[in-house]
Amino acid sequence: MAAAGAVFPPLNKRPIKNTIVLFDVDNTLTIPRQGATPEMLQLLSELRHKVAIGFVGGSNLPKQQEQLGSSTVDVTTLFDFCFAENGLTAYRMGKKLKGNSFIEWIGEEKYKKLVNLYVESHHLPLAEPLGKDTASVNTNKSPSILHYIADLDIPIKRGTFLEFRSGMINVSPIGRNASNEERNAYEKYDKEHNIRTDFVQKLKERFADYGLTYSIGGQISFDVFPTGWDKTYCLQHIEAEKNRPDGVDYTTIHFFGDKAYPGGNDWEIYDDKRTIGHAVKDPHDTYQQLKKLFF
Ligand SMILES: [Mg+2]
Repeated sequence: MAAAGAVFPPLNKRPIKNTIVLFDVDNTLTIPRQGATPEMLQLLSELRHKVAIGFVGGSNLPKQQEQLGSSTVDVTTLFDFCFAENGLTAYRMGKKLKGNSFIEWIGEEKYKKLVNLYVESHHLPLAEPLGKDTASVNTNKSPSILHYIADLDIPIKRGTFLEFRSGMINVSPIGRNASNEERNAYEKYDKEHNIRTDFVQKLKERFADYGLTYSIGGQISFDVFPTGWDKTYCLQHIEAEKNRPDGVDYTTIHFFGDKAYPGGNDWEIYDDKRTIGHAVKDPHDTYQQLKKLFF
């Protein structure tokens, strides 16, 4: 099986020169949240004898290990490049590259202002104060995310209003501890009252100079992350290869992904000038397109 041909030519000796093929994981290499088929792993192994290969997934590495690796096979041995969390966690030939995180990028000072400090501002207050009597107190101070949530008048609140992740923060007005039933009710309420869209709009105005992107997803929350930290983030690792003594100047970068439409998480890298994008319907389609292109 895949292990049989497991000695691969060095990156600068692959037959198809200056070429790398990158893959999304869910619904591109595997059925969502499931493992890859032996046929897919075999094809990737054969492809790796021709070109450099890598994956770029939004989840963290343990998730990709679960889907692409096994108890005896480390996922970082299956690809030349492994980009977890869009490349914030990166491996090259099984060795970890320097990572990055939201907190390193933003710094504690700015993070505090965003999350939990009232800050002097010439802008309007972030939240409309609930009572008129408090209006005069904070006219020149803007509340941050946690203050905004505290002042928000919604039917119920639970817990975990802000979840700190390595590449982003996730903000939920009702709180992530809400039950399924509560989530459903909140989603409906949110649609009617524009809770999340108004919240995001206020943050955009207040922290306009922070270089942040806001993404409303799921039922109860939205993500906040540095602009550009989508899947294109991993391309800086590919571009850095040409500066290594044994590196390659990758002039042809193929990308395969299933969410290659505006709003989909493969769109930015699919549409990027530096890549040749291939939209796929599912892993079977990926398999067929690879066969056609490289075999
Ligand atoms: Mg996908």
